[in-house]
Amino acid sequence: MKKIDIISATPDLLKSPFSGSIMKRALDNGLVDINFHDLKDYSISNNKQIDDYQFGGGAGMVLMIEPINNCVNFLKKQNKYSEIIYMTPDAPVLNQKICNKLSVSGNLIIICGHYKGIDQRVRDNIITMEISIGDYVLSGGELPAAVLCDSIVRLIPGVLNDGTSALTDSFQDNLLAPPVYTRPSTFQNLKVPDVLISGNKNKIEAWREEKSIEKTERIRPDLLKK
Ligand code: SAH
Repeated sequence: MKKIDIISATPDLLKSPFSGSIMKRALDNGLVDINFHDLKDYSISNNKQIDDYQFGGGAGMVLMIEPINNCVNFLKKQNKYSEIIYMTPDAPVLNQKICNKLSVSGNLIIICGHYKGIDQRVRDNIITMEISIGDYVLSGGELPAAVLCDSIVRLIPGVLNDGTSALTDSFQDNLLAPPVYTRPSTFQNLKVPDVLISGNKNKIEAWREEKSIEKTERIRPDLLKK
C-alpha cells in the first residue's frame, strides 16, 4: 500500500480534506495510508522552536533545517520513499502528468512550508522534488499538500467507484472534459442536448469529443499544442 507522510508545522490544517468523500473512503478501505507529522515534535529545543529569523534580515520566519532533517530521518528509518516533495510557489506547476506519475510511484514524503519558507539547505540536500500548485502565494503548504494528495489518491486503482472515470476527466488527453447533464431533461425552458438522450452510443461519443475540442480551443488552446 502506498504511504504518504506529510510534515507540517500546523498539521491541524490538514485534517478536513482527508475526512470526507473520496479521500476518506480510500483511507478507510486501506488503499492508501496517509499520516501527518507535527514538526514541533522533532524540534531540538525545549521550547519546541521550529523557525527563526532569516540571516541577512528581512520580514518573515523561516523553518529550520534540524526539525525537518530529524523528521525525515525518522521516517526513512521505517520506510523507503520514492520522492521527498516540498510544496512551494517557486517550482514547476503541478499538472495531470505529474499526478499520474506520482500515483504509481512508491511512498512519498510531502513537506509543507509556512511564513517565508524553509531553509534553502533543506531544498538543496533533503528534497528530491518541488511542486507548486499555481502562480499565487498561500500562507502555508498544507492546502497545496492536500491538493497534491487528492490528485494522486483518486488515480489509485479501486479508489474511484468507476475505474474508467478518472480517464475521462480533463487533461488526461490534453483536452478539457465535455459538459455533463443530469435529470430532469427539461428544467423550465432549459433542455438537455437531444443527442445525450438518443441512446446512440457512437453519436454520444462523437458529440462529447467535439465538445471537448471546442471547449479546449476556446479556453485552453495551449493544451492542443502539446
Ligand atoms: N516566500 C515564498 C513564499 C512562502 S509562502 C516565496 O515568495 O516564494 C509559505 C509556504 O506556503 C511555502 O513555504 C509553501 O510551502 C506554501 N505555498 C504557498 N504558495 C504555494 C503554491 N502556490 N504552491 C505550493 N506551495 C505553496
